[in-house]
Amino acid sequence: MKSHRFVRSYAPGEDIFLQGDAGHEAFVVEHGRVAIWQEIGGSREPLAELGAGEVFGEMALFSDHRRVAGATAVAATQLRAITRQQLDDRLEAVDPLLRHVLGTVMARLRGMLQNTQALTAAATAPVPDGHAEEALRALRLEHAIVEGIEGGEFELHYQPILALDRREPVGYEALARWRRDGQLVPPLDFIPAVERSGLARRFGQWVGLSACDALARGLPDSGYLSINVSTTQFGDGSLLDMLAGALTRHGVRPQQLRLEVTESQLLHDWRQAQGWLEHAQALGIGVMLDDFGTGYSSLAYLHRLPLTALKIDRSFVDRMVTDTPSRKILRTIASLAEDLEVDCIAEGIETEEQVTALRDIGVPYGQGYLFGRPQPLAATG
Ligand code: C2E
Ligand code: CA
Ligand code: CA
Repeated sequence: MKSHRFVRSYAPGEDIFLQGDAGHEAFVVEHGRVAIWQEIGGSREPLAELGAGEVFGEMALFSDHRRVAGATAVAATQLRAITRQQLDDRLEAVDPLLRHVLGTVMARLRGMLQNTQALTAAATAPVPDGHAEEALRALRLEHAIVEGIEGGEFELHYQPILALDRREPVGYEALARWRRDGQLVPPLDFIPAVERSGLARRFGQWVGLSACDALARGLPDSGYLSINVSTTQFGDGSLLDMLAGALTRHGVRPQQLRLEVTESQLLHDWRQAQGWLEHAQALGIGVMLDDFGTGYSSLAYLHRLPLTALKIDRSFVDRMVTDTPSRKILRTIASLAEDLEVDCIAEGIETEEQVTALRDIGVPYGQGYLFGRPQPLAATG
């Protein structure tokens, strides 16, 4: 065998590992052929023969048990190793539920291979797993969110966006809240779970339809209404079509609905982003760039994107009165917005001092607790 850090080469007939060996990695066959076998009654019984692209030895990625089968190169073979660390890092990043379920499947499979007679016992054996509690918590939360959507526990609260010179609302931002067991749960406590668990589409639909409904019933001051789009929904053309359909059904002009996406969402795949934004533009739905200034937008491409507004992140407004660099950034963003011919909205305005400074700088629109906290529709009028 010739071995590099991740790559192993074997001659025909050479054993890669034996049944009963300790194993810590799996392999992908880069080229060649590999026989998988089990020793039964002193002879090697073939289980499978694998070729390029196929994976084996994967159980070692999930547990410390010894190899339940052996592997031997049939032809000149090159393998690439997958380490447990690589898999752990990915599973950690994915989600505890997926990790727990995968770990269970692998452990049960191992049990079955080790003792085909005791299949039932293996299938019901408890699986030791440090992630079980975390997985269970994630699962409970996810189920509660599904029931919450179906049971009408979510609501949108509306925060006004004002023209700073006239002090009059020009629109509202819809912010989701979860009324759970008599408590109002803020979005940061459930949006990450919504996005992680594949519920973003369903939740986004609920948000979109509720917003269209609110527009149809009539917002005070007849401005626009903006909704936040999940990271996982950004780029989904069917969301735009669904919204356009709902607006038509309700007899609402598409210009009355706006979408908020963040800079980082755009940067992830900006070609796709451009297509999506053009789709929205064609439907007449405006898109505002949220939390602007916190990402790493390249000014070079901003002018090519059909945007409706830049929303300056709260952190700049927070610091602007005392911090010169923040004020300078604000000034730059305001003139950038002017050059791009898009609206410029400052977020998180809490004091009159900030309003004065923002008007001096030339920021025309603002939103913040000073003008109104997010509230249910009945309370906004
Ligand atoms: P965001 O889009 O940046 O929303 C602005 C947040 O700042 C809101 O927090 C709002 O209540 C808060 N805020 C407004 N004015 C002030 C102020 O003067 N001072 C301070 N300290 N805060 C202010 P909220 O409602 O907790 O929402 C947090 C985040 O959750 C939002 O940030 C947004 O990213 C996400 N989110 C909210 N609703 C939805 C939704 O329906 N869908 C999705 N995908 N995300 C949502
Ligand atoms: Ca927002
Ligand atoms: Ca924001």
